[in-house]
Formats: sequence, structure tokens, C-alpha cells
Amino acid sequence: MKHKRIKWYKRGRRTQLKRWLIFGFIGVLLLLGGIGWKFLYPHEQKSWSWTVGNQTILIDAGHGGVDPGAVGKTSLEKDITLAVSKRLKVLVQQAGGKPVMVREEDVDLGTAQGLLKRKREDLAQRIQLANDRQADVYLSIHVNSSTKEKLTGPQVFYYADSQEGKLLAQNIQTQLNLVAGGKRIAKGNQELFILKKADRAAVMIELGFLSNSEEEQKLNDPNYQQMLAVAVYQGLANYLGTSQNLVPEKEGNTHNVPNI
Ligand SMILES: [Zn+2]
Repeated sequence: MKHKRIKWYKRGRRTQLKRWLIFGFIGVLLLLGGIGWKFLYPHEQKSWSWTVGNQTILIDAGHGGVDPGAVGKTSLEKDITLAVSKRLKVLVQQAGGKPVMVREEDVDLGTAQGLLKRKREDLAQRIQLANDRQADVYLSIHVNSSTKEKLTGPQVFYYADSQEGKLLAQNIQTQLNLVAGGKRIAKGNQELFILKKADRAAVMIELGFLSNSEEEQKLNDPNYQQMLAVAVYQGLANYLGTSQNLVPEKEGNTHNVPNI
């Protein structure tokens, strides 16, 4: 090192000045770039991908197989939920989390012959899987439909008595609203069987309305599907970052405690 320093001095003041000017210029560029990035992408500050690491995230692509879910003019709910769920899986994986997929193909989890019985069996299996795998978070992905064709935008539900579910739902709703431009707020629900029975921080995410033609087109666009997946992931990461400060409400309820 000493040898090199002597060499520098030998090159004269001008060369040194040039060198420091270049260093200084690069430094200022990096600084401006950093400030610009924070200004353009303020949400990036909250991108706590480390919070997802080690967490088991159950991703339930709604419907499948004999059950198409909502039926649009050109597409089926079961295909959209699967496409977005697969993208979400990749994002969780990239952050070091452990995604567990309820399904990765066009199948349902029921075996009974009668459709109603099969549907009930299918739902019970999904919850069983979430509980068996001791998932930290349960994300049920769906697409909405209404007789009111004007309705658009994502809507997130949580089981009304669950504080964790509420916090998770609010975080995801906020991110989805940024993508879809909606102003909906996360809704508590006492009736949603799948949320009530899940022994986890659980939410049901309606990505948008298949009954609105414009939104149906968007929901089938791979770019928009990716944006939705990123929004859900971002909301999840934010929730996990926040919930790590929470104390479990009751003994044995350890899924609120982060894995260290
Ligand atoms: Zn559905």
C-alpha cells in the first residue's frame, strides 16, 4: 500500500486533482440518485423483504377443477386466482419465505360425487392444509362478481374477531388500492367459513370484479396480474414487519411471534 501511495504523489498535483474530482462527481451522482429513488419510490422504504424470510405462507388459489368460481364473459375465476397465486409464490420464495400452495394446477381438493358435498369437502381440506403445515399466514385468493356491473376494485376480508387478520387485511388492501386506484377499506366478516376456521392470520383477497368487462380484461393481463401479486406481497411484508412488535394475545398462540 505504501508503495502505491508514493506513486500517487509522483504523478503530480494535477493528476491528483483530476482523480478527486472524478471521485467527488461519482459521489454526488450516487447521493442524488439515492435521494431521487426515495422521492420517486417512497414505498420502497417499507420493502421489508427480510420479514418474509423463514415465514410459512399458505397461498390458496380459490376454486379449481369442477368449481370454476365466478364466471366472466371471457374467463373463469379459478384461472385468474391460480395465475396470481403462482406469481405470489415466486415473490415469497425470492424473499426467502416458504410458500405452500394449495394447488398449482386446475384441480379441486374434493372427492365426493355430489357438487355441494364436494365443495364443502374442498373448503375443509384447504383449511386443514393451512393448519397442518402450521402456516404463519393464510392468503385465500379470489375474484369478485356482482350483479352491479359498475362495481370494480379489490376488496380484502378478515375474520372480524381477529386482530392479526385485520392488520394483515389492512396492509394488503392499502397496497392493492395503490395498484387498482380504489378506495376500499378492509372488511371484517363473521360468516366467511374459511377465515373463521383458519388458526392463523388469515385473509380473503378479492382481486377485482369479473362482472365488470373492463376489469375482467385487466385481471387477465399478465402485467396486471404481476402488479396484483406484488401488491399482495408488499402488504404481507409490511404486516410481518409491523406484527413482529406485537405480543401474542393468549398463551400458546405463537403464530404472532416472528421466527428468529
Ligand atoms: Zn371465489
